Amino acid sequence: MTNPFAAEGDWFKGNLHTHTTESDGRVSPQEAVTGYAAHGYDFLSITDHRKVTDISKLDNKGMLLIPGIEMSADQSELGASYHVVAIGAKGPMEYDTEWDCQKLIDYGNENAECVFIAHPSWSSLTFADMIGLDGYIGVEVYNTGCHFEVGRGESATQWDDLLARGKKLFGFAVDDAHFRILDSWVGYIMVKAPECTYDAIIAAIKAGHFYASNGPQIHNLELDGNRLLVECSPCWELRVICPMPGRGNTAYHIGQRPPYTSVEFELSENTVPFRIECLDETGNKAWSNPIWFGE
Ligand SMILES: [Zn+2]
Ligand SMILES: [Zn+2]
Repeated sequence: MTNPFAAEGDWFKGNLHTHTTESDGRVSPQEAVTGYAAHGYDFLSITDHRKVTDISKLDNKGMLLIPGIEMSADQSELGASYHVVAIGAKGPMEYDTEWDCQKLIDYGNENAECVFIAHPSWSSLTFADMIGLDGYIGVEVYNTGCHFEVGRGESATQWDDLLARGKKLFGFAVDDAHFRILDSWVGYIMVKAPECTYDAIIAAIKAGHFYASNGPQIHNLELDGNRLLVECSPCWELRVICPMPGRGNTAYHIGQRPPYTSVEFELSENTVPFRIECLDETGNKAWSNPIWFGE
């Protein structure tokens, strides 16, 4: 997993989890596309429940459209069904709701480009539900719909629990927009890619060349030995999160007062892995993907 800020290319903004009237969303696929384009997005994945919505006849309004699906099946320890999002669907996808979650993930990988686990908090998934699963590239660290619906949009705890046990997973911020409440144009990922084409964006997502946010921007992460430079839009807290016991750092240790736009941290070598959280004055956050020293 390399540092996306050191990769070649430009930044592109996108949302990878969206519903339309093809499942339980309130707006048509075209209205969803038009809305995201009007809000400055570069790419969008429509991920209706149980079906790959046909995007071939839509006016893309200048955006890259990625076919996708949200699949659900099986039961977690607390009785919720797992929801997984597969993006880059290669054709129609039909699965059996009797399948277990691993079979869903495997099916997603065979018939699409990649798979991530949707809204762990909303589903009350614990790390124990996910630790034995393989083949998914990340979890939704933020889901706008789940935040506004039940106040459980953030899943950083579950993500960290999995990272601490050696899983190498990315964190996605998505809207899961149904367009009934304020669940659109909030959660997004910024992908660093050479160009905004299907192949380049999918490759960058698979490589972890992105960060997640529901507001602030991360402008730069630079690692030079043990020194880490973080540059971001004005933020009230900067956190170096390490999921291992008692490790990590915050900008308060540096002696500067907020707002922070540029902070240099001195990290110890056992701060592995680490990820960055930037919290702005409204409580919105940006989450970097984890970085492992020496990789
Ligand atoms: Zn879901
Ligand atoms: Zn959904």
